[in-house]
Amino acid sequence: MSATLCVIGLDAADYRLATRWDCENMLLDAHGGLESISHSLSVPATLEVWPTIATGLSPADHGVTLDGVGWDGTPGLRAVVRAVQLLPDRIRDQFVEFKERISEGGYPQTDAPTVFDEGSVHNWPGVTPCHVWEREGEWFARATEGDMSSDAFVRRSLGTTGSCLGWLAGQSLSPVAIAGAHAHLLDHAGHMFARRPAELRRVYEQVDSLLGWLRERVDRLVIVSDHGMQTTATDDPDPGVHSEHALIATTESGPLPTDVRAVRAWLEERVDDGPDESADATVDAPREHLEELGYL
Ligand SMILES: [Zn+2]
Repeated sequence: MSATLCVIGLDAADYRLATRWDCENMLLDAHGGLESISHSLSVPATLEVWPTIATGLSPADHGVTLDGVGWDGTPGLRAVVRAVQLLPDRIRDQFVEFKERISEGGYPQTDAPTVFDEGSVHNWPGVTPCHVWEREGEWFARATEGDMSSDAFVRRSLGTTGSCLGWLAGQSLSPVAIAGAHAHLLDHAGHMFARRPAELRRVYEQVDSLLGWLRERVDRLVIVSDHGMQTTATDDPDPGVHSEHALIATTESGPLPTDVRAVRAWLEERVDDGPDESADATVDAPREHLEELGYL
């Protein structure tokens, strides 16, 4: 039995679609709709809502806003990103790592305290570097421009989604009080298949299957989304545009939060004090041998 509270940030999981399509692992034991927030746009923006969930602060207070990114005002960066999309995977990976190292590259991160400060967190927009999300974004751009099939895009993204869920399962084995990982696939898939409900449903069911794998491996799970997606399946006016219908689901008992700004406090009420970190790492192998191997 692991005490780790595992949090999946399931981007754009729409409460209406998850319930309509009976995604039982996305809905867990208790579930509800979650009111989101809009700041720079008329609808909730991924980069602004995730740090709100982690900090409990509005975008104006956590400081990660779309107008701070400057994609559109930076033609040079846009041209570089476009050129990199044409490179082989290996070189593109190196570019992504490089981009994370330079302060003006990658996504901005909040300086505010987050619910994960005493735990661990992976690929969480506005909180950590987002290597996985950025790579999926490059695939999505290629698919949008006809350089990759939608099947290939979904297959690759299911792989990275699985890696994020596997990361979370690993955290619960080496107990930490709280661990969070973000997975973006349903956002991209929602934009891609907003007018093709059968295709979108298939992706929801595939993600639900991966969540079932995770559910069997962790004892305490929370699934939260930042917004939903307007689709023809839900008769929305603007298919392919973010909707207000975020969700929260959990294995925990008690009332659920109803607003993205209340999620941090709700999580903190449920976090047990974790064990103290063990002392600095020690390595038992002879240093000379590690140098011979090229490890040092
Ligand atoms: Zn999003």
